[in-house]
Amino acid sequence: MPKLSSTRLQVNWTGSPRAPGLTVVLVGDDQASQIYVQSKVRMAERLGLHGEVERLPDDASEADLLARIAALNARDDIDGILIQLPLPAHIDALRVMAAVDPAKDVDGLHALNAGRLFHGDDALVPCTPLGCLRLIKSIRSDLTGAHAVVIGSSNIVGKPMAALLLQEQATVTQTHIHTRGISSICRQADILVSAVGKAGLVRGDWIKPQAIVIDVGTTRVEKPEGGYAVCGDVSFDEAVQVAGAITPVPRGVGPMTIACLMENTVKAAKARAARLQ
Ligand code: NAD
Repeated sequence: MPKLSSTRLQVNWTGSPRAPGLTVVLVGDDQASQIYVQSKVRMAERLGLHGEVERLPDDASEADLLARIAALNARDDIDGILIQLPLPAHIDALRVMAAVDPAKDVDGLHALNAGRLFHGDDALVPCTPLGCLRLIKSIRSDLTGAHAVVIGSSNIVGKPMAALLLQEQATVTQTHIHTRGISSICRQADILVSAVGKAGLVRGDWIKPQAIVIDVGTTRVEKPEGGYAVCGDVSFDEAVQVAGAITPVPRGVGPMTIACLMENTVKAAKARAARLQ
């Protein structure tokens, strides 16, 4: 990626320019989460943003985490707060999301941002579905009347993905673990987004010829020779024979998630600075 001039990314903060600031909050020492957090902060720094990680131990209490979030909410130099998921089981993720200042909620998970998205208002939108939409629109700019099928209905990927596609005037079918006849529903999709976390779930014969296939799934599968492979939900070798366009795993949706996190951080910084002018 070309190096951008940091001056282009500065926001004018009560008269003195500064770089947009992002904090990623990591609770515990999950190996995969550590890698994701490092790549987010590294990319922020490459782009001339200020990036930092706030670490809490695995046994941190919910009260500890809420206190850290309150401190970040109060900091003028931090525009974006991302809570790396999953959180340990003893912490209520919804309560934690609700504690993040909606103006700094760069993962778009606060109920206010989710509500704005569903109303079609300007919102901070969850990064992964935003990145998926960008990928889809790079292939097909007008989604009016297209049939889009989303597999998965989580708050972080499936539901906002469906809302974004609906805003683009697609006809959206949302499916989940209890959906009956899922393969035949998928076969009708002009656009198929899978966000499940079950390696190889989507077979080649689930895909309509020339469909756009976006694979969000990221599952670590142990290799017989040791180590692990990161696999998507889609059986890539089968699907690539049928689809018009398809994302690989890894290096498909993942980099777009990070790009959209950077975009959301800059958007949040500009909006906060504008309110102070
Ligand atoms: P989740 O566990 O919260 O939700 C999974 C969804 O899949 C649920 O709605 C469930 O009903 C549905 N589901 C489960 N089994 C199913 C089946 N057999 N058939 C149809 N639907 C089924 O997961 P999530 O947080 O939405 O993440 C989904 C996947 O996307 C995971 O693999 C996650 O690691 C990955 N992910 C990747 C990125 C990225 O940037 N690449 C970002 C977020 C999530």
